[in-house]
Amino acid sequence: CLGGNGGSDDVIVPGTNSGFAPFEFTQGGELVGFDIDLAEEAISRAGYEVGDWTDIDFKSLIPSLNEDNIDLIAAGMTITDKRQQQIAFTDPYYESNQSVLVSSERDFSPESESDLSGAIVGAQSGTTGEGEVERLVEEGVLDAENVRQYDNYTLAAQDLENGNVDAIVVDVPVAQNFADSRAVEVAFIIETGESFGFGMRQDDDRIQDINDALAEIEEDGTYDDLVTEWFE
Ligand code: GLN
Repeated sequence: CLGGNGGSDDVIVPGTNSGFAPFEFTQGGELVGFDIDLAEEAISRAGYEVGDWTDIDFKSLIPSLNEDNIDLIAAGMTITDKRQQQIAFTDPYYESNQSVLVSSERDFSPESESDLSGAIVGAQSGTTGEGEVERLVEEGVLDAENVRQYDNYTLAAQDLENGNVDAIVVDVPVAQNFADSRAVEVAFIIETGESFGFGMRQDDDRIQDINDALAEIEEDGTYDDLVTEWFE
């Protein structure tokens, strides 16, 4: 099978969705972060050339992969059964839960899901965080009309600071990163027990090489160095 952009099998074109620090974000116009470094290292070690990064909406990543516009998704993407019907995932490389993030300058301090009753709650479209919000609607905790969908988490965090939304549901490491840089704080955590993997097409045999490279990166300490660089 051909690589992304109709390119060669030697090139792996990675795609992401920035605004998800410290996994992927822009700094001085450059795409940087844990996923960016880990994916590039894995692609190179597996013996492939790293193509030009594509930065698109989270919900467009899987369609884009299956249309051959990109070859690998590195976007803090949780391995889920539903997604596994559409794409393949590498071995897991990071564990995460969801957090409920609120403004630190307002009185709203929910301690559990039931405290969210009547609140306006947002998440990025197509994410597992949005899935948790949908579950809370199904369980009758949230009103469907009070749910806000965002094209990216940066906009959601801005709306939270501006008071346009009462809470957002986002992966814990990203919530902590927002809390370090904005007037927001983690109210409580929803233990979802998610694992991130890189996404590849189901018929792309190169996934085995990427898995081998990921194992090597973990064994030789490179993985820990990246964790130190981006999370500590
Ligand atoms: N881990 C979450 C998911 O897979 C969020 C990923 C993201 O927003 N980049 O849906």
